[in-house]
Amino acid sequence: MTRAIRHIVIHCSATPNGDARFGLEAIDRMHRERGWRKIGYHYVIEADGTVRRGRDEDEIGAHVEGSNAHSIGICLIGTDAFVWAQWEALARLARHLEDRYPAADMLGHRDYSPDKDGDGVVEPWEWLKTCPGFDVRTWLLGGMEPMAANVLPDAA
Ligand SMILES: [Zn+2]
Repeated sequence: MTRAIRHIVIHCSATPNGDARFGLEAIDRMHRERGWRKIGYHYVIEADGTVRRGRDEDEIGAHVEGSNAHSIGICLIGTDAFVWAQWEALARLARHLEDRYPAADMLGHRDYSPDKDGDGVVEPWEWLKTCPGFDVRTWLLGGMEPMAANVLPDAA
């Protein structure tokens, strides 16, 4: 059964930019420590641009409060600057998901207002008010070209 996908949500891991110690396994471990079954995102774009699968697209994720049922979550490793390979991988994945879910909007986590359900609990996704560290709308309007301020130079 295929879920109806209305939102494709871009996140960052809020780990140091370019730090390859953080990747799918690290995020999976952190999310399990929070008591989740497994990693909450559907995709992780690692520090070298490798795209890793988290949850299956047909599985409900755990990444954006109140909107998990009809969304897919992508997590870029880093905070607000990403290497060219990560940007390329994001654009490729975004185009693939747009083709697959033409009715879905693409947006950044910070485009949601925090604590929508007003339960007073600061959920993990509320820790990152600036997530994913860049303006997704600007990126989309610019044809998915990375903004200079958000490009991390490749390590020498
Ligand atoms: Zn987020």
